[in-house]
Amino acid sequence: MKPENTSNRLSILVVDDEESIREGSERILTRMGYQVYKASRGSEGLEILGQHPVSIVLLDLKMPGMDGMEVLGHIQRLNSEILVIIITGYATLETAIEAMKQGAYDFIPKPFEPDQLRIVIKRAGERIRLTEETEKLAQERQRNLADLGTEKSRIRTIVESLPNGVLVTNVQGQVALMNPAFQWLMGIEEGTCIGEPIDDCIQDNGFCQLVNDISAGKEQSLPATYEFTTSDEKYLLASGRPVLGDEGECLGAVVNLVDITAMKVLDRLKSEFVAKVSHELRSPLSTIHEQLALVLKDMVENESPRDQYLLSRAKEKTQGLISLIGDLLDLSRIEAGNVCIDCKPVKLDELLKSIVDFMEIRASTKNQGLKLVLPDEQLPVISADPRALESVFGNLIANAINYTPDGGAIEVGISIVPEKIRIEVSDNGFGIEAKDIDNIFKRFYRVKNEKTRFVTGTGLGLPIVKGLLDELGGSIQVQSEPSHGSTFTVFLPISTSNLPQN
Ligand code: ADP
Repeated sequence: MKPENTSNRLSILVVDDEESIREGSERILTRMGYQVYKASRGSEGLEILGQHPVSIVLLDLKMPGMDGMEVLGHIQRLNSEILVIIITGYATLETAIEAMKQGAYDFIPKPFEPDQLRIVIKRAGERIRLTEETEKLAQERQRNLADLGTEKSRIRTIVESLPNGVLVTNVQGQVALMNPAFQWLMGIEEGTCIGEPIDDCIQDNGFCQLVNDISAGKEQSLPATYEFTTSDEKYLLASGRPVLGDEGECLGAVVNLVDITAMKVLDRLKSEFVAKVSHELRSPLSTIHEQLALVLKDMVENESPRDQYLLSRAKEKTQGLISLIGDLLDLSRIEAGNVCIDCKPVKLDELLKSIVDFMEIRASTKNQGLKLVLPDEQLPVISADPRALESVFGNLIANAINYTPDGGAIEVGISIVPEKIRIEVSDNGFGIEAKDIDNIFKRFYRVKNEKTRFVTGTGLGLPIVKGLLDELGGSIQVQSEPSHGSTFTVFLPISTSNLPQN
């Protein structure tokens, strides 16, 4: 244990039977800023050491009673950190070596000059300062390590207590961490899987693919998400990101897993409610609509322009409500997975021709040109639900007519690209601003501006198109320039696997 010094001054004890040495040393050392204690005998010196904190002892070797070597031994046992400097009149190499062997720090021959003493004491003072500094650094390091340890265990506790599942893998897709929530959600036994490839731990191929792709740094869309169900009917949503090193290199993946079962059930209940209400409203509304049409027809003959105007507005509104209900029912059917179950061989050119013929009547009321451009090569027959395809292209062509001014031009083109058929519906109408393009596939989203103000709609057409294409295994892209027009491009897979074999 280090002697405790209450003042900042270091203390020195001078043990020598010669008074002149004690007095002379005290003068020099006090001037150097030390607190000085004096003793004329070894036993007296040891007593002082028991009462006061002392850092350096100047010790005479030759004293009556207990000699210097013996006192040195006692000091070593009492406190080995005290620096003992031997004062000897017999400054032989042997005595010096012996004293050093016993643990003395230095020695000074007797008689000595004040400067000699100053040099030796300065050296000892420097040594004490360095020792203190080293100790301080060691303590600081110890504290940092302790902090780090606490921080690590704190993070571990947090990860373990998270209600969401957390999975961490290395670059090979092997499990590095799996918190209890993850194990519970996936029905994995505690303590298993660490170090195993993810494919050996989890049954769902899509999930493993996602984890492996992110771990290997292949996944581009971030955060990459994947929705799936477990064998015990839980709906789970996984979203993952790569873990990047200092140089931006991929070190593995971190995946967050959330139980979305409650949300899914609520969503289903909401859809069922909307479907039920829509269904109940459809028949009475259609009846009102037809009756309004009849009354209006009679009124033309009776020539009552104001009533005629009011009733035609009412008829328009009921038509709007009927369209909304139709769209809501279509969406409910898509959500319930009740479309595209009736896949048949479809000749896309014939199907598009009949839709274009039908829509031409609408286009001609706005003096718009609507044409279908077929490829020279023969189109492959695809397997799809024809009613779903009619709804997709009916909606896209209706939009092109609605959002293109009178006299505009609309074109439907078909081409074959690798493994897919591409259908483009282009117009030279109002176009869509970039900020709206991401939103037009969201339910009830309608672009509101001076040009679209007078177009009636539900904001459900494009969500229906997107929903149907997802079911058909297709996709849709949009390119548009405000005031120049838009092109909606649909890709449908060419798959003959479920066509009837001849
Ligand atoms: P609705 O047409 O009933 O409003 P949609 O879901 O079909 O709903 O379309 C959403 C929005 O996308 C429309 O309100 C319209 O602003 C925009 N839009 C769709 N098709 C076109 C198009 N061909 N040209 C310009 N805007 C379009």
